Amino acid sequence: MMNVYASRLQDWQRQGLERPHHRVQGPQGPYLSVDDRTYLAFCSNDYLGLANDPKVCAAAQRALEQYGVGAGASALVCGYSVVQAELEAWIAHWLDLERVLVFSSGYLTHLGVIPLLVDGETAVFSDALNHASLIDGVRLARPARLTIYPHGDWGFLERSLRTCAFGHRWILTDGVFSMDGDVAPLRELVRLAEQYEAWVLVDDAHGLGVLGPQGKGSLAACGVSSERVLHMATFGKAVGTAGAFVGGRAPLIEWLAQRARTHMFSTALPPLVHAATRVALECVASEEFRRSHLTRLGARLDAGLQALGLRGVPSCSAIHPVIVGENQRVMALSDRLREEGVWVAAIRPPSVPEGTARLRISLSAAHTLEHIDRLLEGLEKVMGVGA
Ligand SMILES: *Cc1c(COP(=O)(O)O)cnc(C)c1O
Repeated sequence: MMNVYASRLQDWQRQGLERPHHRVQGPQGPYLSVDDRTYLAFCSNDYLGLANDPKVCAAAQRALEQYGVGAGASALVCGYSVVQAELEAWIAHWLDLERVLVFSSGYLTHLGVIPLLVDGETAVFSDALNHASLIDGVRLARPARLTIYPHGDWGFLERSLRTCAFGHRWILTDGVFSMDGDVAPLRELVRLAEQYEAWVLVDDAHGLGVLGPQGKGSLAACGVSSERVLHMATFGKAVGTAGAFVGGRAPLIEWLAQRARTHMFSTALPPLVHAATRVALECVASEEFRRSHLTRLGARLDAGLQALGLRGVPSCSAIHPVIVGENQRVMALSDRLREEGVWVAAIRPPSVPEGTARLRISLSAAHTLEHIDRLLEGLEKVMGVGA
């Protein structure tokens, strides 16, 4: 029986799809210590440099002393701490949402929430480049009909909505797309939701902290606010901690809190994570310098990529992909970059469509302009101008 899995693994390796588990030996930061070597790293989603921020770490330490490490149970048994309640209230106030519910991860949020929103009488409309957690949530929910619309194509979406026979409709979208770094056409999506009586779930994992006034995310950046939007975002990226939330109208969120299986049957996050997240979000909201620095770094990088003749995709988020194409080539490039002491993630299918393997350069406010120049020098060396 084991032979089946051994041969599947071999196939996987032959296709150049094997992913190593590199051992990181210290905190997140511009330099990562991995397998006994130090690299200048552009692969973390710690976009604002908060994952190892002294204020955030101190908050975790204080909560550690007060609450210990484990939450002990799921939120509905005895794992719901006052720190979690305060975090939810803080986010609700900050984002002007009636009620917020924190989950232990973004992935678990979607697995728990989507099956409650969507049932066998619901039509779902999902962007072709949506995150795996949205896709898997829909699989669990088993909608009456699933329409996967071409990336960002709200004209296509409108035609599908117009001819949709089901009265209950959900549009699902990333706010910022995780492998391309572009922003969803949220104004159009919400206008369509209002016109065709649909609802919109926006996954803002990569928008929160990076876009909009106070880093409130892609919805705020697009000036969108609607009762038809269910707002979701995660803490593992720009906020630098772990966990996720959904927020919206109180009865809906209360219903999710009562019934979402990944809330009911999964141990709550350690209170120290809630405490650290609260302080990290205060930094997100008040420390505008992190975002303005990130914007400067992004502009320098995009200009540099263009000068090198690389297929960069200009981006207002922290994600700057360089499309390479073939799996083996993107692996060779990232290996060569590592030899130069620079760490950039090579992303292959199934994380991205076939033939669009890429270097996914992610920037952090902890980087300096000199770091960007070193990255560009490394790229020039390994790719050759115009490659
Ligand atoms: C990372 C990510 C998630 C999952 O969040 P976790 O808290 O890491 O489980 C969901 N959606 C998007 C778009 C993401 O990038």
